[in-house]
Amino acid sequence: GNDFSDPVRLPEDKLLGGLLADGFDAKTCFSRYQSVMYGKGLSEKPSSYLISKLRNYEALHKQCGPCTAAYNKTLEELKSGHFSGSSPCKYVVWISFSGLGNRILTLASAFLYALLTDRVLLVDPGVDMIDLFCEPFPDVSWFLPPHFPLKSQLQNFNQESSQCYGKMLKNKSITNSTVPSYVYLHLAHDYDDQDKLFFCDEDQSFLQKVPWLIMKTDNYFVPSLFLIPSFEQELSDLFPNKETVFHFLGRYLFHPTNRVWGLVTRYYEAYLSRADERVGIQIRVFDTEPGPFQHVFDQILACSMKENLLPDVNQKEDIISSEGKHRSKAVFMTSLSAGYFETVRDMYWEYPTVTGEEVCIYQPSHEGYQQTEKQMHNQKAWAEMYLLSLTDVLITSSWSTFGYVAQGLGGIKPWILYKPENRTAPDPPCQRAMSMEPCFHAPPFYDCKAKRGIDTGALVPHVRYCEDMSWGLKLV
Ligand code: GDP
Repeated sequence: GNDFSDPVRLPEDKLLGGLLADGFDAKTCFSRYQSVMYGKGLSEKPSSYLISKLRNYEALHKQCGPCTAAYNKTLEELKSGHFSGSSPCKYVVWISFSGLGNRILTLASAFLYALLTDRVLLVDPGVDMIDLFCEPFPDVSWFLPPHFPLKSQLQNFNQESSQCYGKMLKNKSITNSTVPSYVYLHLAHDYDDQDKLFFCDEDQSFLQKVPWLIMKTDNYFVPSLFLIPSFEQELSDLFPNKETVFHFLGRYLFHPTNRVWGLVTRYYEAYLSRADERVGIQIRVFDTEPGPFQHVFDQILACSMKENLLPDVNQKEDIISSEGKHRSKAVFMTSLSAGYFETVRDMYWEYPTVTGEEVCIYQPSHEGYQQTEKQMHNQKAWAEMYLLSLTDVLITSSWSTFGYVAQGLGGIKPWILYKPENRTAPDPPCQRAMSMEPCFHAPPFYDCKAKRGIDTGALVPHVRYCEDMSWGLKLV
């Protein structure tokens, strides 16, 4: 039918119901205002409170962002090492760390933390962030300028650094009389009990005074922010439906650069746009060997057939005749290996489907192994996550942040392939996700008030253990 008859496709909704700010130069970042022409719009309307919070954030960023007078003033304090309390701006600096899927999730987490604590988010550009993402905030950049004083140290911060918050707690070097000009927050998966105190109210009230927080993480820590009492009300006002946190923040922050957008749109137009239905299959195998493995292939098929996501084939007939135009399914696969794609494609070539549906199988790349330093590698990875988010039905792999990004941006509850044990396909092969939210793989299990361990997945109905990782936490 007519593309413009669908309300979410109207050009005036290019701002996604007010989620995005108007007034950017469209040519510098086509994806920002074109995303709605390819995707399905947002899964629901963002709250008016979230929209006003974002507009206020943008004003703060414009006032305090890189190279503003306020920024220069706060830098003086950072250089002097002492906090005079005179600067109006406070910051959270995100360190570029880990795979691309992880980075997208941690950047969204850091941004939400910045919103909750009235801080300005600054992004360490790392080796490739500038090539991958457009500026999300109007007027003033989110990238840390090259002359930032701690720039050369960013990649060296670790749990032994004297400014590491956990280390400072161990050394008892925190006093209420002196506020350090910066603190390093180690929130990576290997963080220890002291580092984890970040998720306690008492520690938050200390950290609130520190002008510069430098954060390194490879985890989507948002679910545990929902367990901090002082953030609870604000979070529930921002996100009346808790499973939309990454969906909204992701669509607000992450706009592919024109280079990546070219990869996305050319592929979508050429292979996916004309199908009646798009099925995404994201295959990520965490094994010491590269595969492809028969048990993974068996699992993909078992899940697709059992859940009626793909039609079965009839191996006994040469041709199944049916009248009229056939419904078409485009299957969009992503994997580091080409093996799964080739086998599925051959199956649908060699035999007819029992339903008469046409099934086309596509996979844009098979890069072999993770190559974090190569520019084009991560541009393709980002384009593939985005293309997966444009599908109607999605199958993802357990434990993979690559899949979490796709499901979250697309507003899709995927079918998650259970993680194989001992190279055997699990039975059942997959489960429908409870929500579109990513899983926090390394949450703390600590009751800050009682100062002992606690079952953090059983405290409130909206923070639950993940489907794909029994100790992980996710919002539902
Ligand atoms: P995770 O390891 O699955 O949680 O996802 P990450 O994105 O954090 O790290 C995996 C990295 O491996 C990605 O950033 C890509 O560079 C690469 N990678 C993994 N799977 C794929 C894939 O299907 N396609 C492409 N192009 N790259 C992939």
